[in-house]
Amino acid sequence: MLDRRFAKPRQRLVEQLVEKGIQDSMVLNAIGSLPRHILIDTALHHRAYEDSALPIGLGQTISQPFTVAKQTELLGVKPGDKILEIGTGSGYQCMVLCELKAQVYSVERHNELYHRAKEALRDLGYRPQLKCGDGTLGWSTYAPYHGIVVTAGAPVVPDDLIRQLHIGGRLIIPVGSNTEQKMLRITRHSEEEYAQEEFEGFTFVPLIGQKGWKE
Ligand code: SAM
Repeated sequence: MLDRRFAKPRQRLVEQLVEKGIQDSMVLNAIGSLPRHILIDTALHHRAYEDSALPIGLGQTISQPFTVAKQTELLGVKPGDKILEIGTGSGYQCMVLCELKAQVYSVERHNELYHRAKEALRDLGYRPQLKCGDGTLGWSTYAPYHGIVVTAGAPVVPDDLIRQLHIGGRLIIPVGSNTEQKMLRITRHSEEEYAQEEFEGFTFVPLIGQKGWKE
C-alpha cells in the first residue's frame, strides 16, 4: 500500500519532526513509512504529509503528525505493551501504535468514524481492538494498560483512565479549555502514587462524554 508518489513529502515530514524535537527513532520510522493519505479524503491527498491536522468529517480531525509523534514518544511504547487510545478518529495514531508492535485498543464515540477506521485499518493489515463508545470511561474489559493516550482535549483528567493504568503505566492527555490544552503525562508509581509532568501548547477537538465536556 506504500505509494511512491508520497515518498519525498513523507521524508520531508520526518525531517520537520526532527527539527521540532522528536527524537524517538521508532516513532520517526513509523511516521516515515505509514500511508497517512489512505485515511483522508482523496481531495486532501496532496496535503497528507503536511505537518497539520486535517478534516475527516463530523467536525473531527486527523491529528497533526507532530502531535501524534509527541504523544507516542511520551508514551514510551515497548513491543507487546497494551495501549488504550481514546479517540480513534481516522485510525492514524492507532496505526502508529500497531507499527510499534503494541497491543492496541481504541475507542471512538462517532459510529461512522469507528466503522471507517475499522475498515481502513483492516484493509492495511492492522488488527487493533476497536469499539464505539464513551472513552472518558476507558475500556475496563482489557484494563490495566501500560499506556493510555487521549487524542481529544479534556476539561479534567477522567478518574476511570487513571484507575485503568498498570503500576508504572503512563497516561498522556491534553487538559485545559476548549481552545488550548497542556499535555499531561501522568505516571502511576503505585496503587495511590502518581507523578505528573506538563508540556505546553496543544489544541485538540473536545473530549465529549460523561467525564469530559458536555455535548
Ligand atoms: N487519534 C485520531 C487520529 O489519529 O486520527 C485523532 C482524532 S480527533 C483529533 C479526536 C477524536 O476523539 C474524534 O474522532 C472524536 O470523535 C473522538 N472523541 C471525542 N470524545 C470522545 C470520547 N468520549 N470517546 C471516544 N472518542 C471521543
